[in-house]
Amino acid sequence: MKVTVGISARHVHVTREDLEILFGKDYELTKCRNINQPGQFASNEFVTVRTEKDEIAHIRILGPVRQYTQVELSKTDCIKLGLNAPIRESGDVIGSSKVTIIGPKGMIEREAGIIATRHIHVPIEDAKKLGFEGLETVSVKIPGKKGGIMYHVSVRIAENSYYEMHIDTDDANAFQIKSGEELEIFKDIQE
Ligand SMILES: [Zn+2]
Repeated sequence: MKVTVGISARHVHVTREDLEILFGKDYELTKCRNINQPGQFASNEFVTVRTEKDEIAHIRILGPVRQYTQVELSKTDCIKLGLNAPIRESGDVIGSSKVTIIGPKGMIEREAGIIATRHIHVPIEDAKKLGFEGLETVSVKIPGKKGGIMYHVSVRIAENSYYEMHIDTDDANAFQIKSGEELEIFKDIQE
């Protein structure tokens, strides 16, 4: 089993309500470019994420609007911001790190900061054929001088998804992985 890897830089998802607080009433996200997951896009909208310790400006919002507001950060970002963000699946924001998100028209304070789990998007119609049926996690082997094995790569089987592995910039840099690289998957041998 092989999978192509995509590297996710820090980004934000917002609810419609929060988008309107940050950018103004009836504001709509505008598309910069499509990303591989069907219907999702990198927007032209950016926010600043601030904590008591520090801030990171120019973090892109990924559209469309969602049912939750979430800030996906790397561990390096969390150290800069003084956060001990939990490692979570996307959407699991309750009890996550509190941050202030600042847009051109307003700001919000939310429990929204997470470090996303490494994950593989698997289209439900291909799950069996690709060998993911019944698997919650897999491991992935990375070749090269900084290579190794990534454990605990969660398998996200869903409708309307594009077969691809997503990791954050810390994982990509540590293993010196480039976007678009093909990696080999095997069954998770860790608990
Ligand atoms: Zn993803």
